[in-house]
Amino acid sequence: MRKALYPGSFDPITYGHLDVVQRAQKLFPSLTIAVVENPRKEPLFSTAERKALAERSLSEMGINDVPVITYSGLLIECAKRLGVTAVVRGLRAMSDFDYEFQMALTNRDLDSGVESVFLMTAGKYSFLSSSIVKEVKQYGGDARKFVPRCVEQALEEKLGLP
Ligand code: ADP
Repeated sequence: MRKALYPGSFDPITYGHLDVVQRAQKLFPSLTIAVVENPRKEPLFSTAERKALAERSLSEMGINDVPVITYSGLLIECAKRLGVTAVVRGLRAMSDFDYEFQMALTNRDLDSGVESVFLMTAGKYSFLSSSIVKEVKQYGGDARKFVPRCVEQALEEKLGLP
């Protein structure tokens, strides 16, 4: 069975992430979202909050059979533990490329049995990132087009917005 893992910070999950999930589901009979406990940047939401928001967003969108787990440490160790053969990542602009390229080659070096698979962003989400959504909400903008309702509410609560 082709098992895949979609890792990331998901701080918070956006429609860009969810679009990657829906497309990855067509390629892999088993897909798991893995929320990293210690992302590169200080997260706005705790690990438990990021996991819960991903779960609620999936259910709000009627996406079934995609469990959400959390992990710390090396992604490749998590992948091996779960017996996955592919790690799915999304690619937006060229700015994503350098980091993704470096990570994919490092992971292959650590374990050649786990392949990195890149799904190109949907045109309408090519600009969308968790950081942009946080910025929009921080300045009172409407983020309905970017994130599910439960995420927008969580952002409003977290940022103390009315
Ligand atoms: P990380 O900190 O690991 O990059 P993110 O949550 O920012 O975690 O992103 C997780 C993955 O989802 C990355 O591969 C990223 O490129 C991808 N991604 C994020 N937003 C989008 C989007 N709008 N379209 C396609 N892929 C995306």
